[in-house]
Amino acid sequence: ILTALIVCCDFDQNKISSTTTDLHRHATLTSLITELKLSGELQFDNLHHAAKDFGNRYHHLPAAVLHPKSVSDISSLISYIFQMGPTSGVTVAARGHGHSLEGQAQARHGVVVNMESLGQSHGMQFHIHGEKPFVDVSAGALWINILHESLKHGFAPKSWTDYLHLTVGGTLSNAGISGQAFRHGPQINNVYQLQVVTGTGQVVTCTEDMNSDLFYGVLGGLGQFGIITRAHISLEPAPKMVKWIRVLYSDFTTFTNDQEKLISLDSSFDYVEGFVIINRTGLLNNWRSSFKCKDPVQASRFFSNGKTVFCLEVAKYFKQEEAETIDQKVESLLSRLNYNESTLFVSEVSYVEFLDRVHVSELKLQEKGLWDVPHPWLNLLVPKSKIHKFASEVFGKILTDTSNGPILIYPVDKSRWNTKTSMVTPTEDIFYLVAFLSSAMPSSTGTDSLEYILSQNKRILEVCETANLETKQYLPHYNTQEEWKTHFGSQWEVFVRRKLTYDPLAILTPGQRIFQKGT
Ligand code: FAD
Repeated sequence: ILTALIVCCDFDQNKISSTTTDLHRHATLTSLITELKLSGELQFDNLHHAAKDFGNRYHHLPAAVLHPKSVSDISSLISYIFQMGPTSGVTVAARGHGHSLEGQAQARHGVVVNMESLGQSHGMQFHIHGEKPFVDVSAGALWINILHESLKHGFAPKSWTDYLHLTVGGTLSNAGISGQAFRHGPQINNVYQLQVVTGTGQVVTCTEDMNSDLFYGVLGGLGQFGIITRAHISLEPAPKMVKWIRVLYSDFTTFTNDQEKLISLDSSFDYVEGFVIINRTGLLNNWRSSFKCKDPVQASRFFSNGKTVFCLEVAKYFKQEEAETIDQKVESLLSRLNYNESTLFVSEVSYVEFLDRVHVSELKLQEKGLWDVPHPWLNLLVPKSKIHKFASEVFGKILTDTSNGPILIYPVDKSRWNTKTSMVTPTEDIFYLVAFLSSAMPSSTGTDSLEYILSQNKRILEVCETANLETKQYLPHYNTQEEWKTHFGSQWEVFVRRKLTYDPLAILTPGQRIFQKGT
């Protein structure tokens, strides 16, 4: 089994089927129908939905989709496949909201488990009176629904992603990073307990102290060691409103100095992000509809054609009773920064409007048919000491405009994080998340085509390699096991050991292309 797992294999899933494997797989699937006693449903037709994701580049059709109604549906399915042994050829992938980028939630010829159906049949239980308030949720629940339900109790989770129409299991399998992570850590640091179905079909409850190896393994574990079925998510009293602020810089060093200052303060903004704008026009007029600008004429002059400009985006949360003092607090924080003074854009929105901000763009893009296009995204974690070299090589050189989508850039400090999870980060404590969130136009052959954007991504990765920038990919994607080994570095051995312990036949999550099921 060990050899089957760690042998470097050809990851093109189209090439790995053999006649014998096909026969075994067919036999296993046929017997699944007759022998599995499920409260949910196993679906064998109209499966195209399970072969699609947000990336819209990989489409591997499964043989079946399980719509579980209980944890025991998932555990029975996996136990059954496990007992068929290594030759069954059947793999299983949990699918959250399917917002992966490269087929990570797909299982060619295998079984996809639709986690949202578990989310629908299992409610949320709130425990808000103790010292550590939390909500006990199904891993198939969407974060947006957790937000709405928590607010009814006056509470909310602490750490978010920029977009909330993602499942708990999907983001906990990666990390869940956003502008709150500098203070609270990523979402994987804000979980008290998990229920997991391992690759042998065992249902295990785990915490920092109980079955901790599985607990930390599964968090950021790319779905390799088990399917998360429930999670206890830490909560805090919820604010009502948000001061949401954008300011501009022409100088990268001043911009990053201010970002780093903000993430080091004890009393700072509640959210710190930023983005790069290269050669764009018209943006500021868009912002002006929701953001009030102190000096629109000067701001437009500052933001003139062809320039590379850096935008710091921050937010301060407040409750009704703090409304009178909030402006003063914000002004005091802003007075410590060195942005261009005429470019202060301020907006006041509800907490929900702020957190669900990307959904507004989603609806607009959907209307124009531009949401379901291919998304060749690239997410990198760049050490603080290398961010200037990175910026000088990439912004304005490899990327000469940002018209294909936003580029986020903001620092986090992992010295405040729990680093026992499977998530891989650069070794330096402070590193930047740089996210190239491109959309490709399907029939284009120009600079907004899939091929062009992919070649740009490749050049960015090559610069990281040749200039020795010690970056790590976030939401990683590789084609060979050698590359995965390099990605994990000193964590690789632990990762392989956990795979052998919790999913020895490599049944789970083949779409990450790390291990291949033993044959
Ligand atoms: P899926 O795509 O369904 O699954 C992701 C992976 O996790 C797959 O390998 C799947 O098999 C596995 N998986 C799913 N559920 C489970 C489970 N219950 N147990 C075990 N494994 C499971 N990420 C950030 O960190 N910060 C952001 O701000 C952010 N913004 C985003 C904005 C948009 C518009 C999009 C599309 C993505 C964004 N992401 C962000 C990335 C996102 O967090 C990941 O792609 C996440 O995995 C998507 O969740 P999902 O529910 O769609 O998961």
